[in-house]
Amino acid sequence: MSARPLLHALMLLWLALPMAQAASDWTALKQRLNDDPVSLSSELRQLLDSYRQQGAQRDELAAILLLIEAKLTIEEFSELGTLLARGQQLAKALADPRAQSRLGLAESRRLAQLGDIGAAHRAVEAVFSLARQYPLGEEQALAYVEKAQLLQDESRISEALPLLLRAHKQFSELGLAQAASNALNDIGNLYSAMDNHGEAAAYYQRALAGLDPRHNRHALSIRLYNLGASLHLSNQLPQAERTLREALAYSEALKDETGVAFARYRLGLILLAQGRASQALGLFDQALLEFERGDNLEMRFASQSARAEALALSGPRFSSRASQALNQARVLLESAPNPRRELALHEAASRVYKALGQYPAALAELESWARSYRTNNDQLNRQLLSEMQARFETERREAENALLKSEQRRQAAELQAGQSRRLLLWLGLGFSLVLALALAVLLLRQVRQKRRFADLALLDELTGAPNRRHILAYARRQLLICREIDQPYSLAVIDLDHFKAINDQFGHEQGDAVLRSFASAGQGVLRRGDRLGRIGGEEWLLVMPSTSLAEIDHVFQRMREAVRAQSVDGLPSELRISFSMGAAQVQAGESFEKLLQRADAAMYQAKQRGRDRLCLSEPVGPNTQLGH
Ligand code: GH3
Ligand code: MG
Ligand code: MG
Repeated sequence: MSARPLLHALMLLWLALPMAQAASDWTALKQRLNDDPVSLSSELRQLLDSYRQQGAQRDELAAILLLIEAKLTIEEFSELGTLLARGQQLAKALADPRAQSRLGLAESRRLAQLGDIGAAHRAVEAVFSLARQYPLGEEQALAYVEKAQLLQDESRISEALPLLLRAHKQFSELGLAQAASNALNDIGNLYSAMDNHGEAAAYYQRALAGLDPRHNRHALSIRLYNLGASLHLSNQLPQAERTLREALAYSEALKDETGVAFARYRLGLILLAQGRASQALGLFDQALLEFERGDNLEMRFASQSARAEALALSGPRFSSRASQALNQARVLLESAPNPRRELALHEAASRVYKALGQYPAALAELESWARSYRTNNDQLNRQLLSEMQARFETERREAENALLKSEQRRQAAELQAGQSRRLLLWLGLGFSLVLALALAVLLLRQVRQKRRFADLALLDELTGAPNRRHILAYARRQLLICREIDQPYSLAVIDLDHFKAINDQFGHEQGDAVLRSFASAGQGVLRRGDRLGRIGGEEWLLVMPSTSLAEIDHVFQRMREAVRAQSVDGLPSELRISFSMGAAQVQAGESFEKLLQRADAAMYQAKQRGRDRLCLSEPVGPNTQLGH
């Protein structure tokens, strides 16, 4: 072998070395994603800065992609927006469809976190079309996983399952064991959400089998936690305890405080179920501290409820602390009311009271439980699936974010519900308004028509004054009222004087005009409550509620003046129209007919006495007198 080729080979090796170095660096870094994502992300942060300073765009993009993945793994969403924006800028500049796809999937996760599931779906669809175009098998399978996650976020579990199965198959075919294991874990989560804990446990176990424990401690801790929770919920307590202790050990080794707290809480529940209350209490206390630090309301509530139970079961001397814990859980519930938590609290409280020997209180809690269950049933059915993950804490990731997600979803849904309710309300209002308007127009027409008919029925056609029927009805009604309220009541019968002569002299038409003129003059001077109606040709009835005989002369004089002052077209101005009036005030026990007769008689009296005057009918009885 000559020196030149050797030199060449050496040179090539020297040239290739940094590249090989860089490539192996990325592989090692990627490996740590499943092992120790916390320290990985802080290292990547530094790498990123140095690449940016060097202007090494490809490396910067690679670091961004991995950092985003690490952040998503440990559920740290801060900075994600900035990283995504810079990543997309670089991916476009470098025309890197694979990076674009990865960024699209991370964007979907971020949007879902922010509660915008619709936008998240669109981001995933964009990745699907990119993956088809190039094609990118791994990215396509990752898009299936992301889409399944979104569907699960929306409680569309049956649609999510086939996508995850397809993703698992595709990862396996591509030889991506890690990703295939992740997909199995996700399928386990789906079964947990469906309350099928036996099936879930089987998938978590398969997911575990695909992991090398030496390089995947973080992923392992989550799978073990999930498996332990499923075993607990399918009542396999000893296995559950073993598994969770293992999960706890991994989380502790990784200094993953949140993971530790979840494992402790779950382990506590298992111990409690085995009757080891004081051991459980210690675990709940520790877990609570961490959940308080992280301000995880859902888990603070769960821990307080669990503590109350553990305290109640620890013996009578813990009873006041048990009540305290229960109260604290109650306060947390009230700070963020939620039907599922309300049910959980009633359930826990009934167990606490039972353990404390307070059976009536326990019973009352059970009754409250049943009541809330009935009232919240609809809401629960809707919320149950979407909140199932949080309920069973099947995975740290879901449990940590379920609260945030569900709150955001709830707020968004409330907002939307409010908006659509408002819209409906406005639409309804608008519709009702149109309807009401139409009805009003119709009604008005009918009323007008009716009034026309009614007018015909109630008013005298010639003069527009109340007709006989109307004035008599009014007179009777007012009599009843005056009797009821203990008021005087008077009637007057009026007859125009020498009316025949007017007809004869000026014609019937003029006579009619005189009648109209009399009606308008008379009505013009009536007091409130008085009413003048035409009861015959030129005979009238004047109804005067709350009026005694003494006041009638005044009424007569005013009418007389008004009628005299009225001039009638076509009649000589010196012609004076006069009338005779007979009035009577009702006596105790007197009938309307009798009263009317007396008034009529008084009117004849007025005629006899020379017309153009008022005659009052004195009270009936032996001393009946007519006169003025
Ligand atoms: P007195 O002072 O005694 O009442 O004399 P009078 O002429 O008014 O006598 P009477 O009451 O008997 O006459 C009523 C007349 O009124 C008879 C009739 O021709 C006339 N009359 C009745 N109804 C109408 C009507 O609707 N229009 C007109 N123009 N005249 C009527
Ligand atoms: Mg007459
Ligand atoms: Mg007359």
